[in-house]
Amino acid sequence: MAEFDTDLFVIGGGSGGVRAARISAGHGARVTIAEEYRMGGTCVIRGCVPKKLLVYASHFHQDFEDAAGFGWTVAKPTFDWTTLIANKDKEIARLEAAYTTNVEKSGVRVLKSRAVLEDAHTVRLATGETVRAKYVLIATGGTPNHGATIPGLEHVISSNEAFHLKQLPRRILIQGGGYIALEFACIFAGFGSDVTVVYRGGNVLRGFDEDVRSHVRSEMEKAGITILTGCTVAKVDKHAHDFTTHLSNGSSIASDQVMFAVGRHPNVRGLGLDKAGVALNPENGGIAVDGFSKTSVPNIYAVGDVTHRINLTPVAIREGHAFADTVFGKREVRVDHADIPTAVFCQPEVGTVGLTEDQACEQFSQVDIFKATFRPMKATMSGRDTQILMKLVVDATTDRVVGCHIVGDGAAEMVQVLGIAVKMKATKADFDATMALHPTAAEELVTMRTPSARHVRAAAE
Ligand SMILES: Cc1cc2nc3c(=O)[nH]c(=O)nc-3n(C[C@H](O)[C@H](O)[C@H](O)COP(=O)(O)OP(=O)(O)OC[C@H]3O[C@@H](n4cnc5c(N)ncnc54)[C@H](O)[C@@H]3O)c2cc1C
Repeated sequence: MAEFDTDLFVIGGGSGGVRAARISAGHGARVTIAEEYRMGGTCVIRGCVPKKLLVYASHFHQDFEDAAGFGWTVAKPTFDWTTLIANKDKEIARLEAAYTTNVEKSGVRVLKSRAVLEDAHTVRLATGETVRAKYVLIATGGTPNHGATIPGLEHVISSNEAFHLKQLPRRILIQGGGYIALEFACIFAGFGSDVTVVYRGGNVLRGFDEDVRSHVRSEMEKAGITILTGCTVAKVDKHAHDFTTHLSNGSSIASDQVMFAVGRHPNVRGLGLDKAGVALNPENGGIAVDGFSKTSVPNIYAVGDVTHRINLTPVAIREGHAFADTVFGKREVRVDHADIPTAVFCQPEVGTVGLTEDQACEQFSQVDIFKATFRPMKATMSGRDTQILMKLVVDATTDRVVGCHIVGDGAAEMVQVLGIAVKMKATKADFDATMALHPTAAEELVTMRTPSARHVRAAAE
């Protein structure tokens, strides 16, 4: 009898797990994958994909308004939440089926079950059945974490539930200042809901460039979203038809839904990690891994959000692929986590890659900032009160562009491409040598000639 039932057992059928399973099978491994909820994981089922569909839907609101300045007369548009959610659910079901089919086609055995570790080589399914695996990959992702317990926390929804609300809330309070909180704030505002964002810090989007943070806040406020910073939700009271949220600053706000998007926790609970001897990273609560995603147990690896490194779909996919190549493809691959382009699909959207101005000033002795804030051409006729922000952060010693930050329509698409230039270590001179493409907003990126600020670090005594 073979020592192992399978060469690889993947726990979790999300972005990282699915990629790892398919590529490992392609390298000739016998692979089994277990998914306890729906194949595709957070990104496909209740993350990036349904979120972007709702972003598209909510944007029409502005498009209808903007059309008037260009001569269009549009009858007062009406919006039906139920239709949107039903169509979104149909698309997600299609994607889920496609994921399952593609994994199965690549020769992977798919088990629709929760799986936990019994020991380093044994996985137990919800049915009680056990599977002996030579290697185990943990790709269980993360879950919303509401933070400290407060009275009425049971009334609060997370992004998971926001995708399935029976009706559009007329008023919604969202606690959180990160990308998920802001994206949902803009989505609901686009549908006409009255939105209040509550955030404990000084400004939203902690970790982003300061100019991006203030620009996004001012644009969201212009769109009618109330942003309350420096306070938290202390208590939520439920009434027959709505809620009263009491804030730490003594004020209270009535709404039809209360949503928290204050953080996510790696899915490590009840996984049997202790039985297998898998160590956690004390700094972030995720599974501790080395540069090849190997855990403290030599035959167990972990990729994606469960390691709490950089919680993004393309990162989980790369990590899953690198694992498969390293363990089954006879090619050691380490994922480079530097200069990852990211977006916030708020309205207007954010695209960013590389260092913020503050980070660059910590790393380099001379930093030049090139910055432009301007009214997009479309807004001149639509009359919309909005501004685009474009910012390049340059290491003045080498002339390398080490950071690009954009707030405005199309920012995410622009930054995906700019990410190549930053990764290739393009200089400001390379940007200047590139011909502008006119008329676009992006041409500003290659026509900013004079630094708006220059930071020179004083020489050490
Ligand atoms: C609202 C929202 C919006 C987002 N938007 C973006 C975005 O725009 N761009 C972006 O790059 N990222 C985005 N993300 C993050 C992205 O979804 C995650 O980084 C990505 O899905 C992580 O992939 P993963 O494979 O690590 O985990 P997941 O995709 O979470 O997959 C883990 C899977 O494991 C399953 N599982 C857990 N435990 C077990 C068990 N014991 N047995 C069996 N199965 C188990 C889960 O059911 C889940 O399906 C968003 C996330 C959220 C919540």
